[in-house]
Amino acid sequence: MDALIIAIGDELANGVTVDTNSAYLARALAERGIPTTAHWTVRDEQPAIAEAIRRAADAAGLVLITGGLGPTADDLTRQALAEAMDVELVLDRRCLADLEEFFSRRSREMIPANRVQAMLPRGAEPLANALGTAPGIAARLGRADIFVMPGVPEEMREMYRQTVLPRLPDGEGVIVHRLLPTFGAGESDIAAQITDLMARGRNPAVGTTASAGVVTVRIVARGATGPEAETLTAQTADEIRRRLGELVVGQGSATLGEAVGLLLRRRGETLTTAESCTGGLIGEMITDIPGASEYYRGGVVAYSNELKRQLLGVPKELLAGHGAV
Ligand code: AMP
Ligand code: MG
Repeated sequence: MDALIIAIGDELANGVTVDTNSAYLARALAERGIPTTAHWTVRDEQPAIAEAIRRAADAAGLVLITGGLGPTADDLTRQALAEAMDVELVLDRRCLADLEEFFSRRSREMIPANRVQAMLPRGAEPLANALGTAPGIAARLGRADIFVMPGVPEEMREMYRQTVLPRLPDGEGVIVHRLLPTFGAGESDIAAQITDLMARGRNPAVGTTASAGVVTVRIVARGATGPEAETLTAQTADEIRRRLGELVVGQGSATLGEAVGLLLRRRGETLTTAESCTGGLIGEMITDIPGASEYYRGGVVAYSNELKRQLLGVPKELLAGHGAV
């Protein structure tokens, strides 16, 4: 079974808000052994949402949708789901009672607009929302199971864990992720040394991402059981370490600062820094690690040529002949 995730909202489509829900759900599904084939982002427009839901239900066995369940006029996901299913919205008496209780418990008056949150496409089921007003929706369209959750990230996560997760089919096995950060070579150099491991369709799958000078090698293994996936991951990680040698600076989300600290501790060495155009950034990366005082003695930021001469003893002629950079 493959999953497709749809995030709904104008603020997501126009980039004002970053879609964190889809990333959370894709990771959570992977833990369950269900791979995600695509993330779609759709603005608050009913025909566009309905079309996306129809196409998603054709393309995947599981469709997770977040956002657009609120009571305001721009929240149109339930209407779009009804349109995609070609059914009408009907009032769910139990949802309405829950909604009224939610407001009376908080001594707040429920305005008529909130009633829409108790409406469901005919044949769909409500999903309890422990943290907010809008219930989620479970429905079937064609051969796909569809779950709609609120956009607010805390509400979405709570509903996913409490209500959606227990209803998901078991995926095929377990998926394990591991990251190997590297430093000192470009992404294409790294890739050239592990081309065979990066072949499409291989298990574990191996890919690279580059950010701020660090090229991270990502391993994604699929196994029938957790230990099997872990073993496959470890074998590939060992092979990558063997080929890349000292370029691999750590594991997981290890930063350069952590990698440097680890090496200095192992060698029993200490470090001081002299920085110019980085303005102290290197010292910051190093002192960001708890316990850095054991190996880091301090640093000088000599920005002007005058201070480079006075504090660091850089010869005047050197600066004149080559420039500061
Ligand atoms: P909605 O239920 O669509 O009205 O969403 C309520 C709020 O949740 C929005 O104003 C966003 O701030 C936030 N939100 C909605 N969707 C997402 C998403 N995919 N990722 C992160 N935040 C979201
Ligand atoms: Mg919205």
